[in-house]
Amino acid sequence: MLSPFRVLHPTTVAEASAELARLGDEAVVYAGGAELLLLMRNGLIKPDYLVNIKRIPELDGISVEDGEVRIGTAVTHRRMETDPVVRIRLPALTEAERHVGNIRVRNQGTLGGNLCFADPHADPGTALLVYDATVELWGPSGGRRLPLQQFLVGTYDTALEPGELLTEVRVPPLAEGWRAAFLRIERFYRPTANVAAAVSIKDGQLEGVRLAAGCVGPNAMRLLELEDQVRGSTITEAVALVRESKPYLTEKLEPVGDVLGSAPYKVHITSVLLTRALEQVVARARGTAHD
Ligand SMILES: Cc1cc2nc3c(=O)[nH]c(=O)nc-3n(C[C@H](O)[C@H](O)[C@H](O)COP(=O)(O)OP(=O)(O)OC[C@H]3O[C@@H](n4cnc5c(N)ncnc54)[C@H](O)[C@@H]3O)c2cc1C
Repeated sequence: MLSPFRVLHPTTVAEASAELARLGDEAVVYAGGAELLLLMRNGLIKPDYLVNIKRIPELDGISVEDGEVRIGTAVTHRRMETDPVVRIRLPALTEAERHVGNIRVRNQGTLGGNLCFADPHADPGTALLVYDATVELWGPSGGRRLPLQQFLVGTYDTALEPGELLTEVRVPPLAEGWRAAFLRIERFYRPTANVAAAVSIKDGQLEGVRLAAGCVGPNAMRLLELEDQVRGSTITEAVALVRESKPYLTEKLEPVGDVLGSAPYKVHITSVLLTRALEQVVARARGTAHD
């Protein structure tokens, strides 16, 4: 049973931010409501006010500026899954979005809601990490920009300050010749483990490498130390290095055993997905497979 609440409908970011600052703990941001309404229905939170951000036009766009793809926080998963700009410039994100939940969740849930809720079992963050995405925040003391990795602090925890809104995700382009891929496995709607990889190839070696993994620990992570190891190797050597990286993955990802599998199982699956993602992007970079 839902406790009584009021929905506020600001039409600008400044207005929304002012309402959040004025109402403090009594108010929460309301985007798609896919998570928020579940929490409220189960009595886990009882806000007096929902600040609906879906009527703020500036939060609902996908555009390209100076090569960067700018995605408004209130853009739904379904829109990202089907948007031609995202598909052409950020194929690994399209792939991640295609997997989110089911069509109802993808139509309702937003990118910002997904990142701000910070459920470890989430997809877009893992893909966005290999694109070096940043997030734009707006709050009582103005705007700031953070690398996505710094925004994702832990399980259900982000760098958002009280009264702050996530307004936009900015994604710089991969340089010419780079290719990216996203893979996941699931038992139910939400992912058990997911990975993203982006590479560029020169003279048969992985010249550029970015790797990320999600779901098995508190939050999605770039695997910078593994990237350093793999850079400069052939794909055969890279696959062998990833297979040997389970101790590193265990330390880095802090895997949590749960109903989806034990911690060692999740690390094993992550390393398998990483090798497959690397093989896939290398084939794409060589032109022997399509994006
Ligand atoms: C059945 C089911 C299956 C799912 N499967 C997947 C899956 O496979 N992969 C996956 O990645 N996700 C999955 N999800 C999660 C889904 O993607 C998220 O529920 C959704 O993206 C949340 O977005 P929302 O707009 O509905 O957020 P809301 O529910 O409106 O908000 C979520 C939280 O974020 C806060 N918030 C929202 N927007 C902002 C903002 N701009 N600034 C500050 N705070 C904000 C809210 O106050 C709230 O605390 C699943 C969810 C369900 C219910």
